[in-house]
Amino acid sequence: MTWTAGARLAACDVTIGKLLFRLAGLRVERVSTDPETVKITAFTREDARRACPGCGQESDWVHSRYVRHVADESIGGRPVVIDLSVRRLYCENADCPRTTFVEQVSGLTARYQRRTPALRKMVEAVAVALAGSAGARLLGVLHQTLSAASVLNCLMRMPLPDRLTPVVAGIDEFALLKGHRYATVITNADSGERIDVLPDRLGVTVTAWLREHPGVRVVCRDGSGSFAQAITEADPTIVQVGDRWHLWHGLAGTVLKEVGAHASCWACLVDPYRAHLRRRCTEDPAVPVTHLLAEIWEQGYTGSANLLVRYINQGRVEADHSALSPRKVTGLLTCRPGRLSDDQRALHDQLTGACPQMTVLADQILTFTELLVPHEDNSGKLTVWIDLTRAAGLPFLHSFANGLERDRAAVEATLTLPWHNGRTEGANTKIKFLKRLMYGRAGHRLLRQVVLLN
Ligand SMILES: [Zn+2]
Ligand SMILES: [Zn+2]
Repeated sequence: MTWTAGARLAACDVTIGKLLFRLAGLRVERVSTDPETVKITAFTREDARRACPGCGQESDWVHSRYVRHVADESIGGRPVVIDLSVRRLYCENADCPRTTFVEQVSGLTARYQRRTPALRKMVEAVAVALAGSAGARLLGVLHQTLSAASVLNCLMRMPLPDRLTPVVAGIDEFALLKGHRYATVITNADSGERIDVLPDRLGVTVTAWLREHPGVRVVCRDGSGSFAQAITEADPTIVQVGDRWHLWHGLAGTVLKEVGAHASCWACLVDPYRAHLRRRCTEDPAVPVTHLLAEIWEQGYTGSANLLVRYINQGRVEADHSALSPRKVTGLLTCRPGRLSDDQRALHDQLTGACPQMTVLADQILTFTELLVPHEDNSGKLTVWIDLTRAAGLPFLHSFANGLERDRAAVEATLTLPWHNGRTEGANTKIKFLKRLMYGRAGHRLLRQVVLLN
């Protein structure tokens, strides 16, 4: 179907102008459609005055005309190509360094662009969200044929947002290829905004970045300390804040080892009598609990009647596996006391009473939990905690305390200052998602682009 110049032209102008408001200021000469495309032939108006990009003065003094082919968003499932005749105009300002300039039509053309701003925005949005191949596939569904390479080109040409160097930065590494290649993300620890992605996790790279970005006063990092030296080297006055989650995670791992070492003290409590209880319950299903209690007391059981009742009621007599494992015990000991049910609370108390070391272990866990709420007094409390731990006869916890002492300044900052690496960890989770989206094949430049634009 074709409308041509002539009597129907004015009507055509109005219709197209209404349909595509960005053509409203143009003279539309012809609209032709075939099964593949919609083609619009249009001219800029002779009387339209345009500002010179060199000096800003408006002009309508025509030097020449030429036709630009501009792709636009599809209509009715067909891509749109606008063959637009534009003018090269003389600049009327004698002092302007430009003699001529090509007019641009707002909302339709931009220098060196073959797509309208609306279409470019769409392609960029898809490129940022899906990158190369997946982006090209989605654009195909939207009736825009672009190769994966073109989508990537578009993505790589997008300017990165200007981001201020944060005063409080977060830093964390992430695997590009687990065990082989790593990269580092730097964030604004307050807002979680991603500031930069470094191509590796080497100290020299981090040091160089910090030197190129003066103004960082605090760096939140994980507890591994791999970045500690790099930060000190860049600027020893930067306050380093460790990460509360990593401290807690480290403590929980240590508790698991201690609990395992004291298994003979707590794996006691009812389980050693399971074989006896199971035999008795099979022989006489109605046997009173008081009888069972008396029998196992005789065999050395030191737990309470309540514990035995719960043990029976929870079906553990018939269970195939031991009810308590070091992991379960660790879970109970490291659980916030307020979150324990009455049953768990009772078991917790039994466990902590199993031997003097288990008692100290439980106390030290509780005190450490309190230290994880930042407060200026925590510095002194940490010293007390480390001293008590070293005297407690808990070798694994002892070496954990030694580790804290080695990273003392950062640990102390973690326990006394309000900042933390939580937002960086969040940014890292997002990066892992983006990495998978690109099938883990993106190089550093592409990944950096996607991470910083998303
Ligand atoms: Zn000019
Ligand atoms: Zn023990």
